[in-house]
Amino acid sequence: MEKIALITGANKGIGFEIARLLAEQGVTTIVGARDEERGRAAAERLGQPYVRIDVTDEQSVAAAAKWIDGEYGRLDILVNNAGITGDPAGFLPSAATAAHLREVYETNVFGVVTVTNAMLPLLRRSPAGRIVNMSSELGSLAMAADPGSPFAEVNIVGYNSSKSALNMVTVGYAKELKDTPIKVNAANPGYCATDLNQHQGFRTAEQGAAIAVRLATLDENGPTAAFLEDAGDVPW
Ligand code: NAP
Repeated sequence: MEKIALITGANKGIGFEIARLLAEQGVTTIVGARDEERGRAAAERLGQPYVRIDVTDEQSVAAAAKWIDGEYGRLDILVNNAGITGDPAGFLPSAATAAHLREVYETNVFGVVTVTNAMLPLLRRSPAGRIVNMSSELGSLAMAADPGSPFAEVNIVGYNSSKSALNMVTVGYAKELKDTPIKVNAANPGYCATDLNQHQGFRTAEQGAAIAVRLATLDENGPTAAFLEDAGDVPW
């Protein structure tokens, strides 16, 4: 049976590469993007379907779920990839306002819950649903608190804490769904050169996509409630 996947924020960066790699494996990969022109262009490049989805807009999320239901009747893979770092003026904790944090959380945390809950009825119809949340090593409390960690210096309060929250959201869903075939995991792509970081990352978007693809295509013996990168477990 052909698998159906939805990737949010798939018009560029790591999301585009996840969509490309899944499509290469024969998965029907719905390119989710908030901008219709950019989204359609990306989907066309991949020869895959497009759906408009702004993860901060409940109506667009509900409409996307309705469209997927009508078109395919189920969803096998959801990759919550869309993410933002927010306004650099609010990166340092002492400079951040609630508005700075709220903006980041709307996409990186609340958006994931909105999309996941809208897609869950479709994922429950899959014989082996997989949810992958694109997290970050910057969300690791263990690494942030370790002065020896290369990431301990990166102190972006909204983004980092949003990914810590996302990790807990991931575990929460995994626990709730433990008696179903659905597996829910968090992926760390590593530091990849994309628009998110003005292309400063030392990995490619394709390299960053690999762990998400692995988690999206886990067999029944694969983990759930895990935080993984290419090399294995990431400390929470
Ligand atoms: P990117 O190139 O900036 O791409 C982000 C994608 O998210 C874009 O398609 C963007 O769409 C989309 N997006 C943002 N807000 C959205 C919304 N409200 N609704 C729908 N789509 C939205 O970033 P990336 O590096 O590929 O990041 C992908 C994921 O990996 C993010 O969750 C990020 O936090 C995570 N990550 C990245 C790195 C890294 O080093 N790059 C490291 C760790 C984790 P537009 O084009 O319309 O803006």
